Amino acid sequence: MNSKISGIGMTSQRTRVRMLERLRSQGIKDEVVLEVMGAIPRHIFVDEALASRAYDDASLPIGFGQTISNPYTVARMSELLRAGSKLGKVLEIGTGCGFQTSVLARLAQEVFSVERIAPLLAKAREHLRELRVLNVRARHADGTMGLPEQAPFDGIIMTAAATRVPPELLEQLAPGGRLVMPVGTAEQRLCLVEFDGKEYRQTMLEAVRFVPLLPGVT
Ligand code: SAH
Repeated sequence: MNSKISGIGMTSQRTRVRMLERLRSQGIKDEVVLEVMGAIPRHIFVDEALASRAYDDASLPIGFGQTISNPYTVARMSELLRAGSKLGKVLEIGTGCGFQTSVLARLAQEVFSVERIAPLLAKAREHLRELRVLNVRARHADGTMGLPEQAPFDGIIMTAAATRVPPELLEQLAPGGRLVMPVGTAEQRLCLVEFDGKEYRQTMLEAVRFVPLLPGVT
């Protein structure tokens, strides 16, 4: 592995181990998620000037007014989506820099990821290529309505905040499928929807802070 990916100093394996200890103390329990969080070089997803802060408990700017979610939020949403077993087909709405995408790629068989800002998507694709992630298909599109042509999904994750759960997304869940997304405006909360094939069960969880879901592409 080259030194850019393996990391040195503030991006080294020791820094990652400290991040994992923090994630555990924050309540992340899924060992598979923790292993993946420790294995993926988060620092390559941010500008070099920010690399030394990549493993901190913070969200960081990735350009175009967008942010990479803090490690806890990525781990928490992944844990909720996985619910203890390997995922089949997953849809991510809001690729951003591709960090959450690369985590999902290790937890699922196949990942579809949709991003509305073309240059961000280009960067994400570069990062995924660098890490030799092969089971992600990234698409430049408005993901508000999901990706009906690839439905149903075993998991849907949205990494931008909407005012409500779009009903179109519920229709794209496979039986046994789960949806995780931030909902709200002034105050946002993580929302988990579980579909048993007949009914949808919605649970509102902890407060979070995400950039808003926006319409159209750019
Ligand atoms: N998961 C990302 C977080 C990125 S921030 C990461 O780990 O870096 C949220 C992303 O959602 C932004 O890149 C934003 O452009 C994107 N987004 C917002 N509205 C969208 C929409 N309607 N369709 C697709 N992507 C959207």
